[in-house]
Amino acid sequence: MRIGIIGGGIGGLTLAQALRAKNIDVIVFDRDPGPWRTPGYRLHLSGEALSALRQGLPERFEQAIRASGTGPEAFRTFSIMDHRGKTQFLIPSPAGEDLAMIGRVPLRTILAAEMEDIIRWGVRYERYEERESGVRLYFNNAASEKVDILVGADGVRSLVGRQLLGRPSAKSAGIIGIAGKTLLTDAIRISLNKDLYQGPGFVIGPKGVGAFYTIHDLSGGSVLDGGTTNSLIRTEEPYMVWSVAAPLSIYSADPAKLTSGQLMEETLRLIRDWSPVYRQIVQQATPNSAAAFPFWFPAALAPWMSRRVTLIGDAIHPMPPTAGLGASTAIIDAVTLAQLLATTTDAADALKAYQTEMLKYAPRAVDEARPPLIWQQRFANPLLRVTAMQVFFPAANAFVKWKTQFKSRT
Ligand SMILES: Cc1cc2nc3c(=O)[nH]c(=O)nc-3n(C[C@H](O)[C@H](O)[C@H](O)COP(=O)(O)OP(=O)(O)OC[C@H]3O[C@@H](n4cnc5c(N)ncnc54)[C@H](O)[C@@H]3O)c2cc1C
Repeated sequence: MRIGIIGGGIGGLTLAQALRAKNIDVIVFDRDPGPWRTPGYRLHLSGEALSALRQGLPERFEQAIRASGTGPEAFRTFSIMDHRGKTQFLIPSPAGEDLAMIGRVPLRTILAAEMEDIIRWGVRYERYEERESGVRLYFNNAASEKVDILVGADGVRSLVGRQLLGRPSAKSAGIIGIAGKTLLTDAIRISLNKDLYQGPGFVIGPKGVGAFYTIHDLSGGSVLDGGTTNSLIRTEEPYMVWSVAAPLSIYSADPAKLTSGQLMEETLRLIRDWSPVYRQIVQQATPNSAAAFPFWFPAALAPWMSRRVTLIGDAIHPMPPTAGLGASTAIIDAVTLAQLLATTTDAADALKAYQTEMLKYAPRAVDEARPPLIWQQRFANPLLRVTAMQVFFPAANAFVKWKTQFKSRT
């Protein structure tokens, strides 16, 4: 059985590694020239995703991911802040929660390791033909290929998904984010709200504009050496990821059409009344690091019919980054599908069983991403925002502090 995967992103590479570990013949096609060509910065991987990686991939991959990123020590709290830079509500992370935070390029590089003969980089997929004997894949810049099973792991604008479902798999959430990366210079370190050193923060600004800030600082961690995968990647300098999000109607131009420099200017316009600290972070962003990220939801998460073609990750369940679960869910899909393909005699039954499983957990992950967007929209109302800042958050903060003190006394 030969499995063809379109998309060597987080989900597609995890699936290829998991199939390879089970000695199943697999080939991956990606339009990028290599794993280093990837938009986006630091990703949060949930405990469930790490556990899936442990089950599906050789141990060295999880080790390399942990060694190339940070763990729960970098996510002790989550702060809700106002646009003046003050924390309004400090939420402690659940005790014992497992997680890893890793740059997107290191993660993709680790997941692509040892697969030079399996991944075809720089190949742009166009369409497939499903036949009784297999699936033929057609590319814009390479000869066609035949596989037995096709997996669309080609992300949010999936062409495999569009052909399989007869419609796009994603619909716009009406919100666009502009994200960038800023090196953590001494000047920025000194000026930051100290709560950001305990974990990420979300700023609720006026007019429905919100922003997410998180520090990614690998200094002080241990470096693994040796081995193809884990000799990588503790080379990232400490940086801050920032992402400002607002409804499309608030932007002065369509962010998708702006250059990186114009996106920085647009961001500064959106946060012009905010604390100078937030503005300084954007002003000092790494050149060309700002990019626009439209937020998506699945157009419909419903079963589809095919004995040979399936979808994983954003190709079937795109979700806004607000719960930080998109990559994690793609990893869980990949390991679930690989296990079913390895243990089910008929591949068509494996695809069916995968769909049933995925349609149980993926809608929950999508739902987790909704509330922050709903609240961001509600806080566009100035009265509601001021009430929340002056009454609700201080009260919630006092309650959490009291609960923590009470627990430590008993
Ligand atoms: C700003 C931002 C922050 C995020 N933060 C988090 C986070 O903290 N935690 C988290 O879990 N998720 C996060 N996400 C979501 C996460 O990035 C995605 O859910 C995840 O990358 C999905 O993986 P995937 O494999 O499905 O798709 P992708 O990783 O997008 O991979 C798709 C691949 O398909 C390839 N491709 C597409 N079309 C073609 C074609 N025609 N031919 C050949 N190749 C093709 C692309 O080159 C790409 O490599 C974030 C997203 C954004 C935008």
